[in-house]
Order: sequence, then structure tokens, then C-alpha cells
Amino acid sequence: MQFNKLLLPLAASAILTASLLGLGGCSSSEAAGPTGAARGALKTQAPAYYRMQLGDFEITALSDGTVPLPLDQMMSNISPDEVRQLLAASFETLPVETAINAYLVNTGSKLLLIDAGAGKLFGPYGNRLLANLRAAGYGPEEIDAVLLTHLHGDHSGGLTVDGQRMFPNATVYLDKADRDYRFSAQAEAAAPANQKSMFSQSRESLAPYEAVNKVSLFQGAAQLFPGISTVAAHGHTPGHTLYSIESQGQKMVFFGDLVHAAAVQLPQPQATISFDADEPAAAADRIAMFGNFAAQRTLIAAAHISFPGLGYLRTSGAGYQWVPVPYSLRGMTN
Ligand SMILES: [Zn+2]
Repeated sequence: MQFNKLLLPLAASAILTASLLGLGGCSSSEAAGPTGAARGALKTQAPAYYRMQLGDFEITALSDGTVPLPLDQMMSNISPDEVRQLLAASFETLPVETAINAYLVNTGSKLLLIDAGAGKLFGPYGNRLLANLRAAGYGPEEIDAVLLTHLHGDHSGGLTVDGQRMFPNATVYLDKADRDYRFSAQAEAAAPANQKSMFSQSRESLAPYEAVNKVSLFQGAAQLFPGISTVAAHGHTPGHTLYSIESQGQKMVFFGDLVHAAAVQLPQPQATISFDADEPAAAADRIAMFGNFAAQRTLIAAAHISFPGLGYLRTSGAGYQWVPVPYSLRGMTN
């Protein structure tokens, strides 16, 4: 009995080997149905959501897609040559295909979406958030609140598409400083030419929610819901905000646009990007917070680090490295 058990797999393996070598058995031309080659490449991507548990909260990373950025032409406090060298060292090619990630938090009593993707504002590889939300098992009408890290098209553009609220039952939360800045004619007039379109885009995204009293403004540090609080990181925009989430002693931080170009800004955190409203303040936020996150081994959700953008920072020389969370099925039923 034991002997047969050993022999059978060996026999099957010998037949398979003979077949692969063309030594008898069915040839592929005799098999029924089209071959793989006859179908051509499908050229579709997998639904992009990734789930993890944080204490009692369920966190779902959702991709809105990607946007190609010519990073060597967009960064300051670093030379274009250094940018290109750092990108090459991370096997990135220009223009860098930059992730746009949003995050769903199911607290058990509330469904919160952190950032809303770009909608139709950021080109053909964007606007995938709703499809991925549905693939993840939720509908946009279920969202109770959208928590914005800031008012930039790739974070707030998905709130409103073609004048329609995409999250019809949600209240939008954001820092008052960002709202006031984008609705200020004086600030718009003073803004550099490459940032002016952000003003009208932001107003168009937010106005339909304001019209039905579905915008809630906070200022700086605030607790929005049990376990969910804001951390001011004003600099990238006047009201740029991180969200800190804690459940059962486990914590993670959603750090918005603290990083746009991981391959560059982790080794060189002083490097800034042309999207920054106040570049020195944005760099100071990044340098101070990176140190804390690395020292405290904080779990991070990053809007612009390759999907799912979940991981940790660790020190490396004078800079930092990104350590993605290991793929895990813990707590999942399938
Ligand atoms: Zn931004």
C-alpha cells in the first residue's frame, strides 16, 4: 500500500515528462478549443483593492489608478540629475507612473472614505475608484463621510463628476484653511500660473456638497469620530491633513501628500515638488514626521506610494526606505 502511494505520483510525473518531450499522448493540435495564443492578450488589470484589519476596524486600500509625472522637471531642493539617478536606482522610468490611492475605513458603525480619487481630472489611467470600491463589496451610496487630506484634484476630483455628487449620502470633512484658500479670489490671483486651475477644480468638487450642507470643516487637530483624529501638516496646502486611526491599541496614519515621489523623497526628504503651496513648510513637515514614523514603527497608508501604499518607514543612512506590508490573509474568510 505504502509502496503504491509512492509509485503513483512517480508514474504520473513520468507520463507528464514524456508528454512535454513530445513522446506520445495528445499533441496540442488535437486538443479541443482555442489555444491561449489564439485568444490574444486580455490587457485588463485585476480589481485593485487590498484589505487588512486594524483592531476592530476594517481597512480597504482602493486604487483610483495612476498618473504619469515628469518628476525630473517638477522637483526642487534637488537637481534634475539627482532625481533621475534616484529613479533609476529604484527601477523607475520617466514619466513616473504615480499611484493614486484612497482608503476605506469600516469602523463597524461608519463607512469612511479617506480621499476620493481624481474623477475625470487626471487622464486615462485615473477614475477607477468607484469600480474598485464596488469590486471590494461596497457602493458609493453607503459612504457616510469622505475625509479629505486636502483639496487637490487627485484627492477631491472624484467627489463630483459631471456636476453630480458621487457619494450622495456622505458628508465631506476637510480643514477650513484649505476650503478658505480655494474659495479666495485673492489667493487665486496670487497663485502661480500652474496652480490656478486647482482653484476652480476644487470649488466645483466641493460646491455640490456645500449646496446640501454636507461639508464639515475642522481646524488643525480634531477628533472626528471615535478612534479617528486629524493631524495638521499644513505646508503642501494651507490645510493639508493627516488622519490617525486607532482601534484596540493598533494605529495607522494616512499621510496624504507627505510623499509624491518615494524613490526621491525617502532618501532625500528635503526634496519638494511643484504642487507644494509652501515648499519649505512641506519639507519641514516631511522631515519631522518621517523621523517620528520611523522611530515609532508607525503603519502608514500613502496616497502616492505604489498600490496598496501600505507599509513602514525605516531609516537608511541620512534618509529612509519604504517597507511594504507583507501580503496577508489573516482575518480573511477567503
Ligand atoms: Zn496634493
